[in-house]
Amino acid sequence: MSTIQQIPLASSVERFLKGPKRMLVDGAWTDSASGKTFATYNPANGVVLADVVEGDQADINRAVVAARKALTAGRWATLTPSDRGRLLWRLAELLEEHAEEFAQLESLDNGKPFSVARVADVPLSVDHLRYMAGWATKIEGSTIPISVPGHLAWTVREPVGVVGQIIPWNFPLLMAAWKLGPALAAGCTVVLKPAEQTPLSALRLGELILEAGFPAGAVNIVPGFGETAGAALAAHPGVDKIAFTGSTDVGRIIVRSAAGNLKKVSLELGGKSPNIVFADSDLTTVVEGATHAIFFNHGQCCTAGSRLFVEKKIFDRVVEGVAEKARRIRLGPGLSPDTEMGPLVSEEQQTRVCGYLDSGFAEGARALAGGAKRGDAGYFVEPTVLVDTRPEMKVVREEIFGPVVTAIPFTDPEEVLLSANESIYGLAAAVWTRDVSRAHKLAARLRAGTVWVNCYNVFDAALPFGGYKQSGWGREMGREVFNLYTETKAVCLAL
Ligand code: NAP
Ligand code: MG
Repeated sequence: MSTIQQIPLASSVERFLKGPKRMLVDGAWTDSASGKTFATYNPANGVVLADVVEGDQADINRAVVAARKALTAGRWATLTPSDRGRLLWRLAELLEEHAEEFAQLESLDNGKPFSVARVADVPLSVDHLRYMAGWATKIEGSTIPISVPGHLAWTVREPVGVVGQIIPWNFPLLMAAWKLGPALAAGCTVVLKPAEQTPLSALRLGELILEAGFPAGAVNIVPGFGETAGAALAAHPGVDKIAFTGSTDVGRIIVRSAAGNLKKVSLELGGKSPNIVFADSDLTTVVEGATHAIFFNHGQCCTAGSRLFVEKKIFDRVVEGVAEKARRIRLGPGLSPDTEMGPLVSEEQQTRVCGYLDSGFAEGARALAGGAKRGDAGYFVEPTVLVDTRPEMKVVREEIFGPVVTAIPFTDPEEVLLSANESIYGLAAAVWTRDVSRAHKLAARLRAGTVWVNCYNVFDAALPFGGYKQSGWGREMGREVFNLYTETKAVCLAL
């Protein structure tokens, strides 16, 4: 796989990779207080891409002070909603102008195919920033008809304050855009900590943030490790709100850390999403859809359709169809033009996913496709379709976060609804059927933040996204996200 032809690196990417990777604090690129750095790797070959400054508690402290100053006394505090909207729009334009470069960086650091980053990660990020730019001027309070005579009352939506944002490695740029867009539209200031595996696109975005003209301290970006920088941010008494996307286990740690000053918390966590296929659905569309549902982004999606329930009558045909597609997926480095699936993000993830496969096989599961890691260089895992599973198996219950689907037959619609909802998670679900009535009934009873009908992984900046149960707290995107980034103040005036 390592000899495959690669897309030539843009000169801007080469320049960025060679330059220093510092942290953005108070409008300037600075080294960490400790002077430490850490390496970020190319998961296609395990080679170091760049050394990045390692922020820890001291740097988080500085960043929080800068964010507070910007919120209360800096130029940011004087900007109108229209000014903030224009800055976000400008950032979206700059990102779009550099789309090629960001897609390459994302592919190098995360492993995903360049072609995918180019048509998904980057344009979705641009679109999200544009959508949020429009909201800056539309965050309104209301007048409230209270029943106290001689008084007038109204509400104001104010920025929640200094926001800490901790993001994962699966969609590094898009997660940064999801987090920054609404916070800045609402007038908050931010300290962002990217994932240790994929800090590069957030740092390059920081350069565009300065170029767009955001005032010093509005956005601070501190790369570093979760246990140090992330933990310091989550526990910081000067942070008013923490927004986190990542694993459910770390989500629980964030909640505990946030308890000190009872900062507001929003969480976007794991999933084990059911993808339910009825026999009346179009077979070709379903096979395509179920394949995409699990293998998009190598299964490293919180919404991955990792439990594929198929009505018994068509089980063999659908599952064999998905397995056939899985066998044909071309694995390779993200920057090879032929690649359809890249490596997993890290050796740790490769080991973790293979551990799940071992556990599945030990408990009696069988692989119709894949089932092992691939090659000696890079962190590749074969697209895998497991059958002969039982509900109590780890591969059916736990989030694998890799290219592994468990296919499960069903006969009774009531029974499949119970199985689908039998999970600690509730992020997404999908139903494939031509029966409109059945689709509505299931959509209403599935305990998930998003239900797709005859489609999968359709996202839009206008559509709220988040989890039921242990998949999270709060909704990002759409108008609902402003519940996370504003405080409502009620004002009451005696006439
Ligand atoms: P993770 O540990 O939850 O990491 C997510 C973010 O939280 C990263 O920025 C991480 O920093 C930070 N973090 C880690 N420990 C922290 C702590 N004690 N306090 C504050 N922040 C902390 O996820 P992961 O290790 O990268 O992946 C493990 C599993 O998480 C995956 O296999 C998957 O199941 C799940 N996951 C879910 C999503 C999602 O979108 N729902 C995304 C990614 C992963 P570091 O990068 O420095 O550790
Ligand atoms: Mg990397």
